[in-house]
Parts: sequence; structure tokens; C-alpha cells
Amino acid sequence: METEAKPWLSHYPKEISSELDYGKRPLFDYLKEAAEKHPNKVAIHFLGKELSYKQIYVDALKLAQQLSKLGLKKSDRVAIMLPNCPQSVIAYYATLMLGGIVVQTNPLYVERELEHQLGDSGAKMIICLDQLYPRVAHVKEQTKLEHIIVTGIQDYLPFPKNILYPFVSQTKLPKKREFRDLTHVHVFKALLKQGQLSISPVEISPEDDLALLQYTGGTTGPAKGVMLTHKNLIANTEQCRHWMYRHKYGEEVILGALPFFHVYGMTIVMNLGIMQLSKLVILPKFEAEEVLKTIATQKPTLFPGAPTMYIALINHPNVAAYDLSSIKTCVSGSAPLPIEVQQQFERLSGGKLVEGYGLTEASPVTHCNLIWGERVTGSIGLPYPDTEARILSLETGEEAGIKEIGELVVKGPQVMQGYWKRPDETEKVLKDGWLYTGDMGYVDERGYFYIVDRKKDMILASGFNIYPREVEEVLYEHPDVKEAAVIGVADRYRGETVKAFVVPKAGQTLSEEDLNRHCRKHLAAFKVPHIYEIRDELPKTSIGKILKRELIAEEQHRHLS
Ligand code: AMP
Repeated sequence: METEAKPWLSHYPKEISSELDYGKRPLFDYLKEAAEKHPNKVAIHFLGKELSYKQIYVDALKLAQQLSKLGLKKSDRVAIMLPNCPQSVIAYYATLMLGGIVVQTNPLYVERELEHQLGDSGAKMIICLDQLYPRVAHVKEQTKLEHIIVTGIQDYLPFPKNILYPFVSQTKLPKKREFRDLTHVHVFKALLKQGQLSISPVEISPEDDLALLQYTGGTTGPAKGVMLTHKNLIANTEQCRHWMYRHKYGEEVILGALPFFHVYGMTIVMNLGIMQLSKLVILPKFEAEEVLKTIATQKPTLFPGAPTMYIALINHPNVAAYDLSSIKTCVSGSAPLPIEVQQQFERLSGGKLVEGYGLTEASPVTHCNLIWGERVTGSIGLPYPDTEARILSLETGEEAGIKEIGELVVKGPQVMQGYWKRPDETEKVLKDGWLYTGDMGYVDERGYFYIVDRKKDMILASGFNIYPREVEEVLYEHPDVKEAAVIGVADRYRGETVKAFVVPKAGQTLSEEDLNRHCRKHLAAFKVPHIYEIRDELPKTSIGKILKRELIAEEQHRHLS
């Protein structure tokens, strides 16, 4: 595929360059530099406790020294199964300091998912929440795990409190005696106590050495490990930083409501925050009231999130009671941002909420709307510096015309090396350095990109292509709709037909007739849902993306039974 003109570059404001220099440093160097130059600057605010850059760096170094003593070598994998807390940052950087590869593990994983991920990655160690110890211990024998390091969410809090992370099914802390005498189990706090401030230097080539295996795709088959190098992660973080050129080094406060175990929160909150010497105000889970309270008291300037997070906040009954005016910038990614939500959130906070786009395979961000410049509502914006993007026709594989729908392919320094130990899967999505995203979209004559849907989610009804996103947008425009998800379900006559799942706003009731009238007014008849299901809530991923796969699986199950 030839590289041609990039019409989007003409919209870049003068502060944004089309090419950036990513240097030759390993990722942890940013933390080291921050700690050396600004030791007392607050790095993390966590449930009332503040930790300086020096403290985070020193603890990462001590932990690294102890992990090395336990046998961790360059390229060994270390699973981190923690919600956002100081330990999740420390464990991440400690692993990188030794040339280890982080395997981010969702604390909500059940044993089957955990066993697959630990087995597939061949992780040698895991750093997990004490609460999750029984789950890890149960799968250990089926994996290559040699050491389990446990930490309590309260470890960095000023007074000992037995706090439970509320999303996991284990609701009891394991008793110390369960693991006290086991030589392969270690307590995080105790390791830090014994830790020393020197580690043998490890040679790291940022271009070639992996920093992360980020598992993705678990809802459509076994999850695959996306291989990302130090350079991939640095490049994407630098691209994000550059895009937010008005944000100042050392002056920003970032709200960390997105989990760091997801690539989006990891890059655009944790790594970006450290790279630009920000204070990270981190929350172990997203809970609307807590987030509103935290914004009002901690005054974050940047709040990256997912659409359902902004939806939850604007619909919170007490939202007006909180001062949200510190927020300057919000970046929404991971799913389409309904226009209504964007407008309402901006009205409430006075900040900018811009939509971006990305995927795990690209570290993740490839596109974003301009924050201080023209943004196009409904568009994912422009490709980042050093990032090329094309739309390819599904029929011919050639570049599609302007506004013609096809598959989005991207190329850039943030694109992964491939899937861990899956060359066949890699070959399907990486061709000549171009990443085939599996997302259908189009580009306009000015170079703004639009996503219409996942290739896999397109509904084919009586020969018509229907993109669920378009129907969802219309449903979101209904004043009483809080959330909506549209899928295709099997239909004897049409092949597939459109089904909408809808959650009403608090205190509102919705009827099928009303929804149908609304959709008929705004959509061609073939796109109007044939079936509506009104629910109290929808299944979601850890970052609040509606889990359509789960809804589809439910439907298939219903169809078969
Ligand atoms: P993940 O790898 O879990 O981060 O998911 C990536 C997928 O999220 C992409 O392939 C898209 O399908 C979807 N996605 C991300 N951002 C957007 C957006 N702004 N609009 C629509 N879909 C998005």
C-alpha cells in the first residue's frame, strides 16, 4: 500500500508537529527522571494519602531488587492483578526496571480466564491483591508461576483498614496462616522493607524489548496477548502528551478512574501522568458519587474516560451539587460518544470533552479530535502525529473513496509487534506494518475519520447493512434513555433483525411504543428495531464499555433453548 497525502495534517494547529522524536529511553526512565529532578512533587493521591515521585521510585527500585532476588530476569513475564492503587504503579515500573514484561490481569477474572492468561503468557510471578490470593493459588499448579506476591489495598493508607475491593467475588481476606509458611508466597510490604536501593543494570533496547503483554479479544475466543515494546508505549504516550500541548509539565492533576490494567488507563493516565509530572488522583473503581466528590475536592484538570462514565455522571441525581469546574480536558475513547452526552457533560463542567479512538493493538490511541481547534462531532478526529490511516474497501481491498465505508487500517510507532505466540493471528491483522483494526468507518475529504461499527457487529437484515451504532445514536437522543445497545438477532425471514436493549434514566419509564415512534421518526424503516428489551442495567467491561458479546451470547442461548 502506497503512502499518499495526509489531508488531516492541514488541520493541525501550529503547536502540533506531524513528526515527533521518541528518544531512546526505556519507559521507566521517565519515573526516574521525575524522582531525581522533582523528588517531593506529589505523584499519587489515593484515598486521602499522597505519595511523592521519590517515594514511588524508591519503592519501585526496592521491589525490583527483591524481584531480582526471587529470580526475575530480563524478558520474564510478571502478572499484575491489581485495581488502581499505588502498588499497581510500583509493581509495573519495578518489573520494567528489570527488563521484565508486564502482563496486566483484570482483578475480575474468574479462574478459567486467569488460568488461560497465566498459562499463555508463561508468567513466572504474579503481584495480586491479597483478596485474590485464593483464586491465584487455585490455578497455580496449571501455570508456570513460581512466586505469588500479595498486597492489601490498604497497604499505603495512613491507618490500617481492611478494605475490600468490592467487585471481586471473594469477599473475605485470606487468613495470613493460609500462606505464612509457603516459600513461594511473599508479602509486598515485607519485600519493600527488605528491599535495597540498587539493582544490576539491565540493557534495554526500547525498539525491540517488550514492556507489556496486554490481553485482548477474550469475548470472541481465547484472549490474545498483544506485544507492546517500550518504544510503542513511549510513542503513544508522547503522542497523547503532544496532542494536549496546552497542558503544562508539573502542573496537571489527572483523574485516574480508568483502570491501569486496561491499556487505555495505563497509557493515558498512568504513563502520561508520569511523563508530564502530574499528580495522579487514582480511584480503585468507578463509582459515580465518589468520582463527583473527588473532582470537587481534588480538582483534576484532565479526566480521560469512557462514554458510560460520562453518562453515569451527567445522570447522577446530585451532579449539580458538585463543582466540576477544574476540568479542562476530557478524552473519551473505547466506544462511540453520543453527542448528547458530550454536550451535556461540557455544559456541566465547562471543560472540553473530545472523542478519540484506539485499540489495544495500537497502545491504544491512533486518532483524536483537536482539543483546541475545530472538532467534528461524531468523528473520531484526526490521526495522531506519525500515524497513517486509510479506509480499505471490503470488496476490493483497495483504498475506498471519500465517505465510502470500509475497514480502517493504521500504521505508526504505537502499533504492536504482533500477538504473543500466535503468528497466524498476527498475519491476519498486521500486513506490511498496517494494522487491520476490524472497525468499519469512512473518511471525509478533509481527513476526519468516522467509525460506523465493528466489522463483526454489522447487522445484515434482508440484504441491508445496518450499523448498530447509528441506531444507538438515535436511541440516545430520546430524553428518557440512559443507555442503549443494539445487536442483530437471528430472524427466519430477514436473516437477522435489529434488537435494542435500553436502560431508562432514573425515575423514568419507557415503553416499546414510545421507543418505536421515536426510532421511526429518525431512521429508515429497515433500521428500526423489531424487538426492544428494557432493562435496569447492561453488562459492561472493566472500563465501562457495554459488553455486546454478552448480549449476543444471551440471545444465541435463548434462540437455542
Ligand atoms: P480495546 O482493544 O478493548 O481497547 O477495544 C478497541 C475497540 O474499541 C476498537 O476496535 C473499536 O471497536 C472500539 N472503539 C474505541 N474507540 C472508539 C470510538 N471512539 N468509537 C467507536 N468505537 C471505538
